[in-house]
Amino acid sequence: MTADRDPPDLSQVDTWLFDLDNTLYPASSGFMGVIEGRMTDYVERVTGLVREEAYKLQKKYLAEYGLTLGGLMEHHGVDPDDYHKMFQDLPLERLAHDPELLAALERLPGRRLIFTNADGVHAKRVLGALGLSHLFADVFHIGHADFVPKPNKPAFDRIVALHAIEPATTAFFEDAERNLAPAAALGMTTVLVGPHAQASTADFVNHRTDNLASFLKDARLKKAA
Ligand SMILES: [Mg+2]
Repeated sequence: MTADRDPPDLSQVDTWLFDLDNTLYPASSGFMGVIEGRMTDYVERVTGLVREEAYKLQKKYLAEYGLTLGGLMEHHGVDPDDYHKMFQDLPLERLAHDPELLAALERLPGRRLIFTNADGVHAKRVLGALGLSHLFADVFHIGHADFVPKPNKPAFDRIVALHAIEPATTAFFEDAERNLAPAAALGMTTVLVGPHAQASTADFVNHRTDNLASFLKDARLKKAA
């Protein structure tokens, strides 16, 4: 689908920010469904709601706070460490190594960072299961953002400050469209990833792809210094 287009020009980029879940592995893995199921279990347990109602509340908090955890902390006094424990033994067999993605990431000049709303233990387990850990200089996780998630501006200000990020030479890859808006406002190049990306009409989305590996492989990159 992208073959007849000009290759994306990312020749100014030397800092590569990647969301993790449903960005560095395909949504079709179903892994996110496993995560969401655990969340529903947790919301059920904390609120005493029946499953269907618990799921609705989970989605409401996600929409309102950017993260289900945000609503659970605000309204139910949930401790984030207790919440995150439930993800730390998730079965990882749905996550597979993708040699094409690995090769495409490897050739990117400069540094690669993870920017996730998940916690650090989860992020490291997932990166390990994908065989990508060694490619990332650091993982910026929800603890680093004081549990204020993307798309809230403070999360972006935090990662920019912590890693001395220069937005003009940074590209951000995400499967959640709304998380790209603050990145674009800061001056980053934004790339929407995933099966719904091509349908996006948001003006803050610079590039769209349903195949991250081939997008990166085709991209025009900065020449090695
Ligand atoms: Mg994601």
